[in-house]
Amino acid sequence: MSLRKGKRYAYGIHVPDMKDLSKNYPIEEMPAPKTVYIALSQHIGAPATPIVNVGDHVKKGQLIGEANGVVSANIFSSVSGTVKEISEFVNGLGQKLKYVVIENDGKNEEVLLPKLPDLEPKTIIERIRLAGIVGLGGAGFPTAVKLTPKNPLDALIINGAECEPYLTCDQRLMVERTEDIYKGIKYTAAALNLSRIIIGIEANKPDAIEAFTKYEDLEVVILKKQYPMGSEKHLIYSTTGRKVPVGKMPFDVGVCVQNIKTMIAVYEAVELNKPLNHAIMTVSGNGISHPKNLKVALGTPFTDVIAFCGGERENVVKIVAGGPMMGRALVNLNQFVRKTDSGIILLTGKETNTQKPTNCINCSKCAQNCPMRLMPMYIEFYYLSGDYENAEKYGAMNCIECGSCAFNCPARRPLVQNIQNAKMKIKEARSNGKQ
Ligand code: SF4
Ligand code: SF4
Repeated sequence: MSLRKGKRYAYGIHVPDMKDLSKNYPIEEMPAPKTVYIALSQHIGAPATPIVNVGDHVKKGQLIGEANGVVSANIFSSVSGTVKEISEFVNGLGQKLKYVVIENDGKNEEVLLPKLPDLEPKTIIERIRLAGIVGLGGAGFPTAVKLTPKNPLDALIINGAECEPYLTCDQRLMVERTEDIYKGIKYTAAALNLSRIIIGIEANKPDAIEAFTKYEDLEVVILKKQYPMGSEKHLIYSTTGRKVPVGKMPFDVGVCVQNIKTMIAVYEAVELNKPLNHAIMTVSGNGISHPKNLKVALGTPFTDVIAFCGGERENVVKIVAGGPMMGRALVNLNQFVRKTDSGIILLTGKETNTQKPTNCINCSKCAQNCPMRLMPMYIEFYYLSGDYENAEKYGAMNCIECGSCAFNCPARRPLVQNIQNAKMKIKEARSNGKQ
């Protein structure tokens, strides 16, 4: 084991971490609900193709949606029961997605993946692909693809930063399931044929840091509590000193970054033959009666999760899927748990700003705080003017959507949403051949 401090980077902000609300609650397994609504799109890339029909009986762990392309991912049932419906509807994030709706029969009949014949790299990667494992840090990029990089690598970096305020499920996993994470890390390192393994953990999680110091073959790096330390580029810099150039990927600087929950999923798929059919998440905020860290069946309605945590406590003004910085506010509660969900945060009026935005006063605070050294006010200005070409010139596509700019904006400009929209418009223009 080696233990050292990570490098600091110049940009980044300090946000109240609010982790005391939930960090001492062990992960509980929430009973599966009566009905699950499992989205066929829980990853980047094309939605999975349903391979079950209405009326079919399915078991927990049964494949119900088949990956439709290289960056798509398989989808598995989280309960045993009957397929009631396969239909498209608009969810609480305003996305129109296709769902497989399954009525839980309560029998919990389960089917496992076949036992692996060996632990060769190819076998591990194929198992990870088959089990529907995607990056559980939020990106949803298929893990098997990340494990077949274009360039030679020399290090695997595990992201234990969990820098988002309120979220504590990674911290709980690092303390409660250290050995399972370690096994997942070793299988992943074997798949990549790497011996150098680094785990970066923010300094505000001393229990998690302590848990990993017993492994001789891990480099444990204590990261400064600084937002967004968990972004891949900042984590790579802090743990190795390497800078990922604009437009480049981690493999371009010889590393692969994996998330804590992804490592648990790898362990379960390789050793226990279980596909990924649940999410591990934090339910927190001053608006929830009993904050918790939970293991939840995929497709569980958010309303059921909130009820399991005792329901709303006081005037909730915003509910966020994910953390409050990078997560997305729900427009309604017609939302269902996905693989990549890390939290449901119920914010009261005291915890979030609900005032209307005013005009930009050109104070430049957003630029000063941007960890990617962008000028968010110009990207927003050009987006709102319909000038997507200039929005791109000002680096819209390099935005990591961390929310640091909006956090400190005195005019409360919705900078992140506008930059996200700008990115969508730029992508549209690219696919139409206009830019
Ligand atoms: S512009 Fe993007 S990367 Fe920069 S602070 Fe805002 S959200 Fe973060
Ligand atoms: S922080 Fe807000 S008000 Fe200041 S320059 Fe940026 S967008 Fe304008």
